[in-house]
This record gives sequence, structure tokens and C-alpha cells, in this order.
Amino acid sequence: MKKNWFDEKIKKFSLIGGYKKPELLKDAVKLDSNENYVISKQFQNDILLSAKKSSDVREYPLGGAERLIDMISKFIKVSSSMIGVGNGSDQILDLILSNFASKETKVLTSNPTFGFFEERCKLYSIPLIAIPFSNSMKLDVKDFMKQSKDASILYLDSPNNPTGFQFSKNDLTKLVKSFEGLVIIDEAYGEFGDYSLANMVKTQENLIVVQTLSKSFGLAGLRLGYFIANKKFTDTFMTVLQYPYPLSTITIESGISALEKSDLMKDAVNNIKTERKRVIETLQKYDSFEVFDSKANFVLFDAHGSYKRVFAALAEQGISIRKLGKIGSHEGCLRVTIGTKEMNSKFLLAIRDLLG
Ligand code: PMP
Repeated sequence: MKKNWFDEKIKKFSLIGGYKKPELLKDAVKLDSNENYVISKQFQNDILLSAKKSSDVREYPLGGAERLIDMISKFIKVSSSMIGVGNGSDQILDLILSNFASKETKVLTSNPTFGFFEERCKLYSIPLIAIPFSNSMKLDVKDFMKQSKDASILYLDSPNNPTGFQFSKNDLTKLVKSFEGLVIIDEAYGEFGDYSLANMVKTQENLIVVQTLSKSFGLAGLRLGYFIANKKFTDTFMTVLQYPYPLSTITIESGISALEKSDLMKDAVNNIKTERKRVIETLQKYDSFEVFDSKANFVLFDAHGSYKRVFAALAEQGISIRKLGKIGSHEGCLRVTIGTKEMNSKFLLAIRDLLG
């Protein structure tokens, strides 16, 4: 083997660093990864039991993904021929980037954008044009329009992680229609927001909408993402780009069972939206915090100079949130996931104890 070549490669990859996962704190009140603990444990038990009954893992899941896609099609009311699946939406984004983008293809996004997406662009040396958020954590659609000529791909997570911002439907529709390259709208948090662009795919050839069961269905551990796109792209993705068996039998069968119980997801989403309002209103009472509105299952706030102290004090009490630090002109950003009422109350009480 040409050892130098291999060593150089390893060195290059290790300099990139990769996606930063939160620290694993045992028995923590876990409000750091935008998971959903509101959907009941019973829901999880039921779908896993149903998957167990209908799975034979001695076999490859031949035809399984197709049955799951038919179920997603019924759920979102879009033809099966326009739906593809992946091992989490992470994998879908990765396959699109690694096959459609290159050093010569500029990708237009926001700053901040979804961390994994940014890391993947770094890995593939794909140049990013990133439009910064305003001081009030909002984006300006005109800034995107101005930059759109230079880019081949537009990627937006809508609502955005980590700000919680979502463009008005009118603004995003205008932007998608005016963009001449490929548009990827990542709706990982779509159910917590005001709208979805999934139906726009029927008339907009260059649009791919990515969704997941990780957030609204509370199934992050299942690793089940899907996308909606035109039939030509979907066919190519599923037959050429995607692995022959991208999802495990357990994921497929559990996913089918979860989609049959989508009413439970809708209840959980409504509950999270109510709690989101309570968390925002309570945090807003502290003069030392600046709290940003959110259309997702998390809330971003700037704790200014005291953000490290707030983060450490919470961690000491077993409450894990995300420490982000500087975002634009905001020095001390923290992101907290909306959990169950009890989890949120523990977080808010710990803040009260700390700040009075
Ligand atoms: N997109 C965004 C904006 C996210 O925040 C996340 C989860 N962190 C994902 C995609 C990945 O979701 P999945 O679990 O489906 O890979």
C-alpha cells in the first residue's frame, strides 16, 4: 500500500473534526438534542412489538422499503413515486451532497445552518455561501435572492436549527421559485412550524423536501428519514445512489406501525407547542437573557457573558442543554429542547434558583 497517501488522507480527515455530538451524561434531563420525550413510552413499546411480530431478520428487507414508502405516501398525501427513504435524513442529505455537489458547486445556506450539513460540505470541500441571521435571529429573503446566481444548490432547514426561525410561506415560496439550481428544504422540524412545502414538489422540478420521524414522532433512535422530490430524481436516488437495503427490517416495520398511529404524533406536537410558549415566556422574564421566537421543538436564547456559568450550573444538576456560544453578534447562545412538562419545569426551576 502507498502508506504516505493513506496517512495524508487520515490527517486531512482528522483536521476536519466532524459533527460534534453532545456529551453523554448518565440519567440526565436530556434537553440537548431536540429529541421528543412527550410521545409516550407506550407508543414506542407498541411499534417495536408490532415490528418484532412482523420481522424476520434472517432475510434482506426485499420489498420492505416499498411498503414503508406506500405508508408515507398515504400519510403525506403525495404519490409513492415521489418519495425516497434513508437511514435518517442525515444520510439523505449526505448522499445528495456527495453525488450532486463538488469543489466547483457553491452551496447557498444560512449562518448558522444545520451543523451536520456544514460539516459534510467541509468534508467534500464544497464551498458554502452562508447568509447571516439578523440580530433578532431572522433571515432576509432579499439577501438570498441577491446571492442565488452564484450558487448551484440552495439548502435551508425550515424551521432552522439552531435558531428556530422559519421564513413566511410566501417568502420561502418566492425564493424556491426564483432559484435556478437544486433546492433542498430540510423540514426535520416541519411539524412544529407553520407550514410544509411538500406539496410544492408536485409543480417545482428543482425542489427536494426532506423530512424525518426523529423529531415529531420521537423516533430519533430508529434512524428513519424520507424525502419528497420529482419522480426522475427519486428513481435515480433510490436505484443508483442509495444502498440496496438502506433501512433495517426493524426500522421499516416500526416505521409502518408508527405512521398508522400518527394521531399520537399530532397530540405530542400540540403539547410541545404549548410547552414551548411557556418556556419562552418564562425565560423572557429574565433581563439577562435574550430569547428568540421558535417554530421548532427547541428554544434559542442568548445568556450573554454568563452562558458558560448557566450551562455548567444546569449540568451540575443533571440538566443537559446545548452550549453554542457565539452566533453573529450574540456572544452566549444556549439551545434548550422542549421536553415533557416535568423536564421543562426542572430546567426552569434550575434557572430560577440560579438567577433568582
Ligand atoms: N436536519 C436538521 C435541521 C436537524 O436538526 C437534524 C437532527 N439533528 C437532522 C436533519 C437529522 O435528522 P435525522 O435524525 O433524520 O437524521
